Amino acid sequence: MKSLETLLKQTVFSDEEIVYLLGLKDEQDCRALQKAAYDRTTELMGSNVYYRGLIEVSNVCTSDCRYCGIRKDNHSVPRFEMTKEEIVGCAKFAADHGYGSICLQAGERNDPKFIEFIADALRAIHAETISEQLPNGVGITLSLGDQTKEVYEYWADCSGNRDNLRYLARFETSNHELFNFLHHTPKKKNKHLEHRLQCLQWLRECGYQVGTGVMIGIPGQTLHDLCADIRLFQKIDADMIGMGPYLMSEGADLKEIGQMEAKQLIRLTLNMIAVTRLVLGNINIAAATALQVLDPEGREKGIEHGANVIMPNLTPLCYRGDYQLYDKKPNLTDDPSFFAAGLQQRIESRGRTVGFNQSGSSRKWLMRKEAGLQQSAVKQIPIKAV
Ligand code: SF4
Repeated sequence: MKSLETLLKQTVFSDEEIVYLLGLKDEQDCRALQKAAYDRTTELMGSNVYYRGLIEVSNVCTSDCRYCGIRKDNHSVPRFEMTKEEIVGCAKFAADHGYGSICLQAGERNDPKFIEFIADALRAIHAETISEQLPNGVGITLSLGDQTKEVYEYWADCSGNRDNLRYLARFETSNHELFNFLHHTPKKKNKHLEHRLQCLQWLRECGYQVGTGVMIGIPGQTLHDLCADIRLFQKIDADMIGMGPYLMSEGADLKEIGQMEAKQLIRLTLNMIAVTRLVLGNINIAAATALQVLDPEGREKGIEHGANVIMPNLTPLCYRGDYQLYDKKPNLTDDPSFFAAGLQQRIESRGRTVGFNQSGSSRKWLMRKEAGLQQSAVKQIPIKAV
């Protein structure tokens, strides 16, 4: 194996090198990895951290992912659905406070009523958030699970702003056996890895900026599995990654497998963020809120390790307690205005600035778009000539 110093100057890595970097434990080595990822982020993405104001639209879900606190079969959770007016109110708050974009997240539903509700909300958000600062309205990330290609296309149309439209659909793990263990319960609506990958392909074809991600530290998951996850990010050619530690939930169906010890888990998660930055380069990476469960400064540490996106929670306080995908979820009582000011300070203390009123698209996406425009311009020439 090459020296760590040599490895960290590379831009292309073998599987063996990725596994080695993911497994670093020595404090000095981890600091070197962190610095390399931070510097690579500055070089490729600049110094901005972008906000995606998180709006947890509803905790009603038709799926039963075994690790999830709001899965359909957890009958101890009171279910809620925000109204369109509440959602638009949160989106306006985001736009008025300089957030370039928001993220609408909910449990998975495929019924026509829900599809139309989201379509209506998207139209209203676009109409209500256009301003001098945001001439195309606030950017939107959707995190609404597996849908048909027609639904993805329909929602993209309703967003009114395809240049600032993203979809986050994590595949959670590329290890089939582990995926099935996490997502299969007899006689329930079970998920399939191939279908999730098909959804990601449809999202690309519909023009979304494609985001995916995994859980880190799932009991039974190996460093080779995480390396395979990074390889799958590359294969998908992801524009953004949102990943966080595997955390237990009281409402889940998996208490018996436990959870990795907190110190090890945060180390592994930060290593995964840093290595993903080094391997994937000019993409967006979110510092997951779940990092804060393990360390009060978890999200800031995520930024130090190569993340450049943060998702402040804008969900009305009355609903937040009922949207707990994992236990001890932080920020359940934080008032959004107060919290945003503190967050800005904490980001700046890490040498970053907040990219207010900016879309915050990844360089990868911007280059993809540029190349697409050039290709379509080339394609247009013969048509015009004819
Ligand atoms: S992870 Fe998402 S789709 Fe699965 S049960 Fe939880 S909310 Fe539903």
